[in-house]
Parts: sequence; structure tokens; C-alpha cells
Amino acid sequence: MAELDNCMNCGKLYVRVTRTICQDCYKEEEKKFRIVYDFMKKRINREATISEIYEGTGVEEELIIKFVKEKRLRANQFPNLNYPCERCGDPITDGKLCTSCSKTLTKELEIQDEITAIEQRIDDEDREKVRTYFAIDKTNK
Ligand SMILES: [Zn+2]
Ligand SMILES: [Zn+2]
Repeated sequence: MAELDNCMNCGKLYVRVTRTICQDCYKEEEKKFRIVYDFMKKRINREATISEIYEGTGVEEELIIKFVKEKRLRANQFPNLNYPCERCGDPITDGKLCTSCSKTLTKELEIQDEITAIEQRIDDEDREKVRTYFAIDKTNK
């Protein structure tokens, strides 16, 4: 459904359909993608890193990273297209986190789940104790 929104890129009001940026910025991005892609197509640039692409094309590194994240530029085609992990800064070619960080985060989530489960169990035990207490209390009278 179309609605008015501010462009994520330039802040201009535009009719939002599926993109988070306005038509002008989209066109601009497509143009830059072409430039980057044409640059990467040259055999000599196959192994360029993101900062080398930036030097060669003038396209912002952030935008190049966006293309990699959107898988428009594929790391298996261009082996040096990596960018820093959001947690530790290690080079990655996919998603936001490196494998070890996403493992750590999953582990932390699992631990959190366990804690919640234990807390839940303690709660149950407490209720059980309270129930037993009242049961004993009743029989004593
Ligand atoms: Zn815009
Ligand atoms: Zn990491």
C-alpha cells in the first residue's frame, strides 16, 4: 500500500511503495551499483576490497556494503568483499555478525532461556511449598 514517508537517505517526503528511499535516491543507487559492478567485472578488480572499490569508483563504502548485504555483489564471486562484524570488527561477507559472534550471541540467548526456565521452576516450587504449608496448616487445626 502506498503511503507518504520520509526518504531514509535524503529525508525528502515521497510516496512509499516497497522501498525505504525515494525514487531519486533509488535511481542514484542504481547508477552507483552499475559503476561498482562495471568496476568489479574487470578481471583486474575481481579481488578488490571494499576500500579499493571506493578508491576506484568513488561510491561510498557504506553503499557498497549494502550491496554486499543485499547479495547483489556476491562474496563467492569477489573474494575480498568483506566488511567488519558489528560486534568485534572481524571481516565478514554475510549478515551483520561473524560466525563466532553469532555463536556467542546464540549461546547467551540459550543461557538466558535456561535462567528463565530455572526461575519458572523456582516459582512452581514456591507455589508448591505454599500449597503444602497450607495443607499442613489445615490438618493441624
Ligand atoms: Zn531520497
Ligand atoms: Zn564478530
